[in-house]
Amino acid sequence: MNMNKLRNDFPILEEKINGCSLVYFDNAATTQRPIQVLDTLMNFYKKYNSNIHRGIHAFGEQATSLYEGSRKKVADFINADEQEIIFTSGTTEGINFVATTWGMTHIGRGGEIVVTQMEHHSNLIPWQQVALKKGAALKFIKVTPDGLLDYDSLDDVITKRTKLVAVTHASNVLGTHVDVKKIIKRAKEVGAKVLIDAAQAIPHQKVDVKDLDCDFMAFSGHKMLAPTGIGALFIKKELKDEVPPYRYGGGMVFEVDYDKASWCPTHRRFEAGTQPIAQAIGLGAAIDYFEQKIDFDELQVHEAKLAKKTIEGLESLGDIRILGPVQDLKKTGHLVSFMMNDIHSHDVAAYLASVGVCTRAGHNCAQPLAKKIGIDAAVRTSFYFYNTEQEVDYFLNKMEDIRKNF
Ligand code: PMP
Repeated sequence: MNMNKLRNDFPILEEKINGCSLVYFDNAATTQRPIQVLDTLMNFYKKYNSNIHRGIHAFGEQATSLYEGSRKKVADFINADEQEIIFTSGTTEGINFVATTWGMTHIGRGGEIVVTQMEHHSNLIPWQQVALKKGAALKFIKVTPDGLLDYDSLDDVITKRTKLVAVTHASNVLGTHVDVKKIIKRAKEVGAKVLIDAAQAIPHQKVDVKDLDCDFMAFSGHKMLAPTGIGALFIKKELKDEVPPYRYGGGMVFEVDYDKASWCPTHRRFEAGTQPIAQAIGLGAAIDYFEQKIDFDELQVHEAKLAKKTIEGLESLGDIRILGPVQDLKKTGHLVSFMMNDIHSHDVAAYLASVGVCTRAGHNCAQPLAKKIGIDAAVRTSFYFYNTEQEVDYFLNKMEDIRKNF
């Protein structure tokens, strides 16, 4: 199918900036939402807005059934069971959830936590905190000069002392797709648990938690067509009873007295208080959209075509450093980060913004990685199925203007 035909589902793509057509290349930060998701949100508030798991009136029942229906859709989407899915506000909350519950109770002095040198702050700082508070060590799988991970070091970095390996599935800075299966295999050999930060993977490729055999996985709805404020955390069912509640309050209890309380035996004990109900139902609508309209193999080919065109166009301008594993990105990438050697990335992004091209400039929430590879800021272009080759041409044309005029 022609992926660009799906543009019609995204009214925002018709917007203009300073009289220029919008070119939205900031999908790694957040994607746009199709009309199907927007209508779902509107219908919720217009037709059956209600709290869930409480009222036995018609609206309450409908909202509950759609909310729980969304859980089932998320579970099916990543091949998990329903009781393995916890709604969160996004990847950041999901990782903090695991760090402050399972992490704080299962990682102690002498234990080791392994992450990579390319983690987003969200999958680094929570583990720094656990290591600091519990007297554990934080170790790193290194990034190689060509933007890949040093898989040869896995046996040395992941050892019998490793309690948890927390790794990104795809880098939001370099675009690198990580061979998480290889890392999980090594972690299992030493009995360590594995958390996958799937924020940059789930929107772009089929992810199957059973096939991967990971223990925890976190991702955000807003990077996959769904509203902000909603995401999901997968907790493997065998681990559920090792995970203490994350928050306390209504909805997660079995029995409460003035001096004590006990928790719901199911996954409900992980969802205290009123949940982001409309957003969760919106996430379900986004998943319906993927199921009905997106073939992940085609999506990868389409995105890589845009990445390749971008890389080759930038290379032909000269005096530009492209980050990450350039040859891989041309085949399977969904984003391209670069720096002009003589013009600051913030100036590049500001000029592009003035002519309608939305990119992101900065360290992209991975300051240690930026320092390691010796940059203070890069421009990131990140693509999705609704982006076109014509948009890449327009962007490259504006890059030429920058080269000529600055
Ligand atoms: N991890 C990665 C790899 C990301 O790209 C992001 C978002 N940029 C996050 C974690 C955090 O996601 P959120 O802000 O939706 O919690």
